[in-house]
Amino acid sequence: MAQAIEGGNPLLARMRRRPINSTLIGLAIPLLGALLWFAWTFAPVRLDVPQVDVGALPPATPPAAMSISAMPTGTYETPAALAFRGGSWSEKRAFAASGVLVRHPKGNLLIDTGFGRNVEQQLKLLPSLQQSPHHLGTPIIDQLARGPADTITAIIPTHAHWDHISGMDDFHGIPVLVDDAGQRFIGSHGEGTEVLNSFHEVTYQAYHFDGGPYLGFPSSHDVYGDGSVVIVPAPGHTPDSVVVFVNLPSGKRYAFVGDLVWQMEGLTRPAEKPWMMRFLIGEDRSEIQTAIARIRAATTRYPEITAVPAHDGRAFSSIAIYPASTR
Ligand SMILES: [Zn+2]
Repeated sequence: MAQAIEGGNPLLARMRRRPINSTLIGLAIPLLGALLWFAWTFAPVRLDVPQVDVGALPPATPPAAMSISAMPTGTYETPAALAFRGGSWSEKRAFAASGVLVRHPKGNLLIDTGFGRNVEQQLKLLPSLQQSPHHLGTPIIDQLARGPADTITAIIPTHAHWDHISGMDDFHGIPVLVDDAGQRFIGSHGEGTEVLNSFHEVTYQAYHFDGGPYLGFPSSHDVYGDGSVVIVPAPGHTPDSVVVFVNLPSGKRYAFVGDLVWQMEGLTRPAEKPWMMRFLIGEDRSEIQTAIARIRAATTRYPEITAVPAHDGRAFSSIAIYPASTR
């Protein structure tokens, strides 16, 4: 009887000849392999970083009146698992969107500008995937209006991504310092530059890495000529990424590392960003590994240097919030 039914059903007959299980297994093995690999890219694997000799501590003679202030403008929410390998999926990190005001007798400058007045409109230019829930604080232009008369004479973006330059749109006519790689990246109108390129009035001021090696980085640019603010090239997250070293009269030093890492764990463990995020951004993994190695080596050898990832609010804890200041 069973044979009769089977004989009349071509599907059953085919299954008998080629069991469906083997077809499923043939599909499932590579799929499972891909899923396991993808899950592994979020696993807590320590990043291998090369040994770096960062050399002597570079001299700096900052004027006594120099100081810095943190200028928070809001946060956006990101699961820790997307911020660094080994982060938890259930833990939400509030990514800081902050600028840093450097007060200097030769002219005050901003390192990054946080969320500006037009951030909501700017966000509409981004792919929906990047529009995570955010909390808006007071834009820097409005904080400055309420505080002491701090005039901004230049802006140094750590790179051209929207969450670092949003507030730049509020400072028409203020020179924005960019190096050759920055000019090329912004001029390419490539992914990540949409918001900056939507601004109508940006006054770019070119600078070059005309100074020598600096704490393991191959070249540098001394902004004021006194070693108090020194920019070094740190491409990888984007081609135009830089690290800005700020050396205060007290001897305290900071390395504003932008998005080299998103959270402190990126430097302390060290842990890279998950593959998916690096892929979506188009990061250069090897350049980032090298820069992480240099920053780790510099902060280990010279504990007076604090590294500040742009999006880790904890890293800003030793910097007074505007209008107070740290010297
Ligand atoms: Zn960022």
